[in-house]
Amino acid sequence: MNTLQDCLLIQWPDEIAAYNAAIKENPNNQSSNSGGRRKRSLVNYSKLWANGRTLKIAFIDAPEAEHKQKIIDAASRWLPYINLTFDFVDGEQGDIRIATKNNVNSSILGTDALLIHPDWPTMSLGVKPDHEDFEVIVTHEFGHALGAMHEHQHPEANIPWDKPKVYEFYRNREMNPLTPEQVDRNLFIPFDTLAAIYTEYDRKSIMHHPVANALTLGNWENPTNREISKKDKKLMRLLYPK
Ligand SMILES: [Zn+2]
Repeated sequence: MNTLQDCLLIQWPDEIAAYNAAIKENPNNQSSNSGGRRKRSLVNYSKLWANGRTLKIAFIDAPEAEHKQKIIDAASRWLPYINLTFDFVDGEQGDIRIATKNNVNSSILGTDALLIHPDWPTMSLGVKPDHEDFEVIVTHEFGHALGAMHEHQHPEANIPWDKPKVYEFYRNREMNPLTPEQVDRNLFIPFDTLAAIYTEYDRKSIMHHPVANALTLGNWENPTNREISKKDKKLMRLLYPK
């Protein structure tokens, strides 16, 4: 079953703290441009880094040189479309802190990273360098670190999930089983912030998880998207204009 690109997007639980950190980093995160969407939460704001800045990205658990280079190469796929610079360093200090020595792929969303204790990673890249989806997963996690949400949770996605089957699948699998609550948060619940920045739903986005036909009603599936899509590029250019 095509569910390899498994990822936990983590948002800081305290909305007020997250809002304050986002505004302090980049006052433009508070935007009145809601593009006509319905407001679902009291505050609509994004979690984007200050445009033009250098992001210090630390490898905190010393992956091997080749492994590290593969991460750098995949992350750097975003650079042509954003007005940020990546400064990769070894050690424990960075705006983004990458751990590689477990089995989880996860990232904190954008400026929520500022709220994570400096001793803790903000991104976990458990995928091994010889995995066929390594590049896709690393690029995807960096999309979150730049402030992008999950495309399969786009308010207009309307994926015909077979929910009981999805819960069962994630509960019973051997690697990283998920609780129903985690499944809700990572697959089903439409995203709620970033009002100012989302564009139309894009099935080809690298921020869209693959969807197995067996987990949907009727005939609906989505492959693993391996490339940064046209709309991904457009969105990133909008978020971090040069
Ligand atoms: Zn993700």
